[in-house]
Amino acid sequence: MLKPTIKIAPSSSENDSFWLLYEPVVLFHESKKGKIFLGNKEPKICRFCNRDSSSTTFKMNAHVLPEFMGNKSLLSYYECDQCNSHFSKYETALSNFGGIMNTLSLLQGKKSVPKFKSKDERLQIKFNSQENILNVRATAHNVPNDTDKREWGKYVDGFKISDDKKTITFKTTKPSYIPRHVFKAFVKVGFGLLPIDSLPYYEKARKWLINEIDDEKIENLSLFHVYRQYGKLLKKPVVYLARKKKLYERVPSPENALLIFYGLYKFQVFLPFNENDEWLWNQDEIYLPIENHLVRNIEVNSEGDGTGEVNKIDLSTIFKVTDEEDHLSFGLKEGKFL
Ligand SMILES: [Zn+2]
Repeated sequence: MLKPTIKIAPSSSENDSFWLLYEPVVLFHESKKGKIFLGNKEPKICRFCNRDSSSTTFKMNAHVLPEFMGNKSLLSYYECDQCNSHFSKYETALSNFGGIMNTLSLLQGKKSVPKFKSKDERLQIKFNSQENILNVRATAHNVPNDTDKREWGKYVDGFKISDDKKTITFKTTKPSYIPRHVFKAFVKVGFGLLPIDSLPYYEKARKWLINEIDDEKIENLSLFHVYRQYGKLLKKPVVYLARKKKLYERVPSPENALLIFYGLYKFQVFLPFNENDEWLWNQDEIYLPIENHLVRNIEVNSEGDGTGEVNKIDLSTIFKVTDEEDHLSFGLKEGKFL
């Protein structure tokens, strides 16, 4: 069987291929109204393992979006403690995948902004919340004895300020992570936001999330991608669950997409394993529109057609990635990523 071609269509603000095809089903942006719990308080049933309190417990606060993203308020009654602890390893993978950016994004985790320490500990970053300052400590090494102090910066590996003082560059490595687990962390969020009448179509996704389906037996991995972009700093996460409009049912695109924006990150994911999407694999082409916040270098020609670039990251592998390089450059203007 020939695989369908995957056609990626980046949106521009003038020609929004994503919001033309999709509509939001859930939008969440934290306000000051306190905690919001999704689902029924009683009786509690876990939507991941389908068990109730006769065979599992519901003592922990289950965050619909990971807490490390700054989510303090969106919780659910439908995630049991056992599933919650199973999913925590996916959240750790997602957090590790974020690397140094989690610290630079000033994300308020469980207690505070996470510190960053490179493997050799020569680069350390810590946020001082009282003074609202990000302290970067970089250690020079192998400095020749007679070097002038002003030249020590040349002997620092992980951190550089450009000669014109307009750019900061960090060069470090990410903590290790399994890409498939990162993807599962996104799908778990999407599954947690789905309206109850959509759940039966995602039975395979549910079993896969709780490891009732072996990861090695999974096919059709072409949707195991995320699209990533950087942008303005968001202190609180924003999440959209989008659904393909009824009108465009026959357009060969997955039924649901998830947009998660937090810190300096923006991600788009298509939810896999929807029964209603199975016909897509028999088509010549699968069409994936990308939301305009995920697109960079957008250019629009005189006919109003846009072109743009997207960062596609393949998260299908089940093998651990170690020492992945994490190189970032910032313009020295607050909150703006170059
Ligand atoms: Zn459960």
